[in-house]
Amino acid sequence: MTAGKEPGRILMTADWVVGHENGQHVLLPRGEVVFEDGAILFAGHGFEGEVARRIDCGRALIGPGFIDLDALSDLDTTVLGLDNQPAWKKGRIWPQSYMEKGPREMYAPEDLRWQKHYAFTRLIRNGITTALPIASLFYREWGETWDEFAGAAEAAESLGLRVYLGPAYRSGNTYVAEAGSIAFHFDEERGLAGLADAVRFCEHFEGRAGGLIRTMLAPDRIETCTGALLSRTAQAVRDLDVPVRLHCCQSAFEYDSVVRMHGKSPPEWLRDIGFLSPRAILPHLTFLSGLNGIEYEAPDLDILAEGGAALAHCPLVMARSGAVLKSFARYRDAGMTIGMGTDTHPPDMILNMQLGLITARMADSNPQAVSAADMYDAATLGGAKALGRSDLGRLAPGARADITVISLDDPAIGQVIDPIQTILLNGSGRDVRTVVIDGRIVMQGGVIPGVDHDALRVGAQNRFDGLLAQYPDRTFGHPPVEEIFAPAYPLRKAPA
Ligand SMILES: [Zn+2]
Repeated sequence: MTAGKEPGRILMTADWVVGHENGQHVLLPRGEVVFEDGAILFAGHGFEGEVARRIDCGRALIGPGFIDLDALSDLDTTVLGLDNQPAWKKGRIWPQSYMEKGPREMYAPEDLRWQKHYAFTRLIRNGITTALPIASLFYREWGETWDEFAGAAEAAESLGLRVYLGPAYRSGNTYVAEAGSIAFHFDEERGLAGLADAVRFCEHFEGRAGGLIRTMLAPDRIETCTGALLSRTAQAVRDLDVPVRLHCCQSAFEYDSVVRMHGKSPPEWLRDIGFLSPRAILPHLTFLSGLNGIEYEAPDLDILAEGGAALAHCPLVMARSGAVLKSFARYRDAGMTIGMGTDTHPPDMILNMQLGLITARMADSNPQAVSAADMYDAATLGGAKALGRSDLGRLAPGARADITVISLDDPAIGQVIDPIQTILLNGSGRDVRTVVIDGRIVMQGGVIPGVDHDALRVGAQNRFDGLLAQYPDRTFGHPPVEEIFAPAYPLRKAPA
């Protein structure tokens, strides 16, 4: 189904509307939003023009759609490792035996395409209107492929999701050389070939589906990219004028490895090879000099802020592994652009904002350090700034009509303070009811036309089980699945 923008002018109203004025969001009780031809025409009170259709969302919040800079786009395997440690024993890092045998694709090509479609339905279901897909490379032969991203473009166009697409590439990988010791393998030519494919992908797909599909470059993570790959990537970013995303400062192992290989901190190295710019989007930036146990001395935060790079803040995935940004307020006050990413399952932006708010207060031991508005700004305006898009993340005349409606009438929501504070306390991605992207109603009342969420859930479970069955092949010592992933409690099965 490729239905386009809604015909005629549509007026939406609800108990609350997030309007926009002088560069910041404002709250409009019983406000109105009017859009036409994919763009916002009006956000305020008492629209006087003609409209073709009026939609009253009732006890709800109408706000800008969420921008997900690290949007979960596969069947998440990160979650498998949390109760099953250490990572090198649990298939999170290739053993040397698997690498030497030749790593392989663990999904069939059609399954890789399928999971993009599946993941995009989950993003829309959670009110995400702009997505920069991210997936793990652990179960891949090497990088991501043109074919699956062509599939991603088809899925985005048919569902109506705004995306920035680019297959991930890398020069190297880590592997378990012997019990507990992690080594690096690099293949410069393979990395550069991945960049060349990614550049061709950008040239081919940029601006498709009426501008809904944009492109980006996605070198996978800093420690598995060479200086040549990243500096040529930076040149391609300037030539193509696209955003670039690179996982950076997401673990102490990564940080220390970069220092060991290049004699500089990750931010110092990125600055010196010309990678930092306002086009650079860096998930997670949690491990910086002096923070989270990093002893190497470098003015990391200043380098990043001066370089103009944006943080893709993914508090859920970091907190699940015991790490906290130290701190949101400090990065904000240093002048960094901060957007949000889901990165793990569930791709629930509301949950990420809630956890971001809680962990930011914990990091500074100060409830005044951040507010609900800081998080809502990051998930909307911050993401837009990271993408250089003043036409996203806000309901203002001339902006694209990307709208997320969050219900406030579920009993679980409790008492409403104001809608933003309330959602940041009691809301859930499951409260998202209606989503409009580029003027097209892509979900209404939780229903995405043509999408059977139950059938997709079953399909996802079957594929996930199939992937799990292949873990021994890719795990150090090749133990059986039951040994890799222990149940939460001892299993007592019924006698046969
Ligand atoms: Zn990530």
